[in-house]
Amino acid sequence: MTKLQAINGFKDILPAQIHLWQRLEACATEVCRRFGMREIRTPILEKTELFVRSIGEATDVVEKEMYTFVDKGSTMRPEATASIMRAFIEHGMHVQQPVQRLYTMGAMFRHERPQKGRLRQFHQFDAEIIGPVEPQVDAELIALGQMLFDELGLDVSLELNSLGCPVCRPPFRQNLITRLEAVQDQLCADCQRRLHTNPLRVLDCKKPECRALVADAPAMMESLCPDCDTHFKAVRATLDMLGICYNLNRFMVRGLDYYTRTTFEFITNQLGAQAAVGGGGRYDGLIEDLGGPAVSGIGFAMGMERIVLLMELQQAAAADTDGTDIYLAALGPEALGHCTLLAQLLRKTGVRAAIDYSDRSLKAQMKIANRLQARYTLIVGAQEWEQKEAILRNMQSQEQKPFSLQESAEMQCEQLVDLVRA
Ligand code: AMP
Repeated sequence: MTKLQAINGFKDILPAQIHLWQRLEACATEVCRRFGMREIRTPILEKTELFVRSIGEATDVVEKEMYTFVDKGSTMRPEATASIMRAFIEHGMHVQQPVQRLYTMGAMFRHERPQKGRLRQFHQFDAEIIGPVEPQVDAELIALGQMLFDELGLDVSLELNSLGCPVCRPPFRQNLITRLEAVQDQLCADCQRRLHTNPLRVLDCKKPECRALVADAPAMMESLCPDCDTHFKAVRATLDMLGICYNLNRFMVRGLDYYTRTTFEFITNQLGAQAAVGGGGRYDGLIEDLGGPAVSGIGFAMGMERIVLLMELQQAAAADTDGTDIYLAALGPEALGHCTLLAQLLRKTGVRAAIDYSDRSLKAQMKIANRLQARYTLIVGAQEWEQKEAILRNMQSQEQKPFSLQESAEMQCEQLVDLVRA
């Protein structure tokens, strides 16, 4: 019989890794709290049309990467922004509160070629500020992202660009198409295809032949209309004031169509080809395009798998704190009964207690205690039970002391709690 395995690109997150995930989730939640962000959770499945209309028909995500149920017209979310905007519109959230600061964390799905740091089910931490148009908000959201990396002790760099607006982007785009048409047959196959549908993507193609051809192409950043130019300057001035370093990246385009003006990416040089750990930007026309009010927004999505990989690499993670406080090693039915109750009482007070019911030898149970990284072991063998005196072992110093079983289980529990908390 063939061995059942997870689907390619779909991965288990095993207990050995979970402390990194929990630390990342806790840190993201805490940083969001400081910035007045509130959590939102949206469904995994959305109508396909939502993503086609928001992400854009000519993007890689919509063209080739979506998991779509063709008979049902629904798609497993490939990203979170579109769903959050749909919820924002559907619930009239702007009526209750003109500025919405929202975040979410969860699984996203894209049918990509799996490799290290690139999965088909992956997780994003996503933050959105909907409503304000001021450039300071762009800098504030970037500051939130930067604070997460700082708090996690991770070294990433920030790339910044502006993609203009419906006033300055179309003439730039047309200009670019004309330029690229002149060298069309030297571009890679993907770029030849994108030339007319999504020419800006050619600018950030990673293939050397395309890179060389666009090296001296005009950049959007240098072709902004006066309003976009003023906005971009103010974003940069605010980042400078906040002490947030960035590199201007003339050719950073991002893979989703809805971005306007400020776009940014957090990148690392430690994950090979998967350099982007997060990115985002402003999407001023998106909500209106989806049938909502004419309000602006800015958001980012961070790749949580990639951040966890960095946490592992940079050993920024705190020690695994999933260990056990006390292991109850019971031998014989009476001792086991007593320890079963003791474990329950200890757990009720918040102590991490462990017990094994299979009546294994003491030697085998000490092995279990070690594997569970127990700080203490209470040994209650048949003899100890008879004499009402157990042995309490400090697993680190290996020191052993008698522990009286004369008192009630509640009293014993109290003593053990004091010991663990000391
Ligand atoms: P995007 O939604 O494409 O702007 O991506 C935002 C971030 O999500 C990227 O910078 C990556 O860190 C992460 N990401 C995107 N796609 C994947 C994937 N297939 N596997 C793992 N992480 C991903």
